[in-house]
Amino acid sequence: MAKLKHVLVVPFPAQGHLTPLLKLSHCIADHGVKVTVVNTESVHAQVVAANQQDEGSNRIRFVAFPDGLETDEERKDWAKLLESISRVMPGHLQEFIEKMKRQSNSNEDEKISFVIADMTAGWALEVAKRMGIERAGFWPAAVLSLALTLHIPKLIEGGVIDNDGIALKKDAIPISKKLPSYKSDDLTWSFPEDLMIQKTLFRWALAIVHHSTHSTSYLCNSFHELESSACGIIPGVLPVGPLLASTRLLHNRGSLWKEDLTCSNWLDQHPPQSVIYVAFGSTTIFSPEQFYELAHGLEQIGQPFLWVVRPEMTDGPVNKFHSAFLQRVRNHGKVVQWAPQEEVLAHPSVACFFTHCGWNSTLEGLSNGVPLLCRPYFADQHLNRSIICDVWRVGLGVDGDENGVITRHEVRTKILTVLGSDEIRSNCLRVKEMARKSVSEGGSSLKNLESFIELIKA
Ligand code: UDP
Repeated sequence: MAKLKHVLVVPFPAQGHLTPLLKLSHCIADHGVKVTVVNTESVHAQVVAANQQDEGSNRIRFVAFPDGLETDEERKDWAKLLESISRVMPGHLQEFIEKMKRQSNSNEDEKISFVIADMTAGWALEVAKRMGIERAGFWPAAVLSLALTLHIPKLIEGGVIDNDGIALKKDAIPISKKLPSYKSDDLTWSFPEDLMIQKTLFRWALAIVHHSTHSTSYLCNSFHELESSACGIIPGVLPVGPLLASTRLLHNRGSLWKEDLTCSNWLDQHPPQSVIYVAFGSTTIFSPEQFYELAHGLEQIGQPFLWVVRPEMTDGPVNKFHSAFLQRVRNHGKVVQWAPQEEVLAHPSVACFFTHCGWNSTLEGLSNGVPLLCRPYFADQHLNRSIICDVWRVGLGVDGDENGVITRHEVRTKILTVLGSDEIRSNCLRVKEMARKSVSEGGSSLKNLESFIELIKA
């Protein structure tokens, strides 16, 4: 009997990276390829605690490696986590691949024949290359942000940014005649609130540039029709998105928090296009003041809303306010700690999505034709906001006041504007249709995925 191919998938340990790679893993497994996903022990424990073990769970095997931090140590310090991961995980990965090779003496199917690694965990590509294993990078964000990242050496050379990634002029930044110029605020490593974080993000971006040389193909969770210009300037880019959760993944999407499964029933009780869905992803942190303004804004609209308030989403206590708020809005507002977001966005009663513009959230909104209201937090989210509002015109941004706070008035006004815009809604429906076609029979992303799977199986 022909031996099965065995692909090792290495995500970066964060929600927005694990989710799309799990979806890709299932697509690959659908084609009879064996898939093992590598998590850190910490993420693995969180996923096991938060997800039901359903029938589909066994299709993918999971292995967990230590990330080098103590079990009970905080993992909010990105600089520390990144340093630790890139120090200890390459060794664990190499050992695991060697172990699988030894086991292949008794079971041929165990040998790792291909590695797919998140480009933000590009050390895994380096290990695969050193060990002579075929490999591909995976980019979990917009192709436009990959183009910017890979262009960093030229930006430094041209005196556009300095060695710490700081823009030297306020001007728009062109990287190719084929692409719109980037705003300096849209640099994906920009974090003016904390320059230490900015330095860490920039070092991380430089590591991506370095590790990109270890692969010649980059799978992207995007589709050609959405980002044709950016796709055209990166050799080896292979858009296979939007990667969507299939029914198999419905209750085991690799969520790091337990999904509140009462959302669908609650949405069922509302008329079509009446609910404002509000969720800011897995990492956004608000000041208590900003949190209060958002809450008051939502309350004042008087329309039904579903708001995801993660545990520890504010950097100061809001408990007292929060319980009084829940009491006041109990007839039309629902607040959950973590939602089954893709189901929510696919529900007909959802009218718009107030989002932080994380790339997965953006694609999930677009794939469901839901207008977006944008409040980016960090990393690529500012760039995503620009494309959403200025290029695809499928949403609006909310802006801060002179202190950077988005007021209740701004929240209310912009939500009402988005809800009332026929132009935005019709653009959303156009993009939704493009997305659907790209992953349907004969569509660009499906064709790319099929040819990639042929490559794996060769
Ligand atoms: N998500 C979810 N439930 C929530 C909020 C988010 O399932 O209540 C999922 C969402 O569907 C997306 C991921 O978490 O797939 C967040 O990824 P994204 O890139 O949007 O943002 P990040 O968390 O990386 O900032």
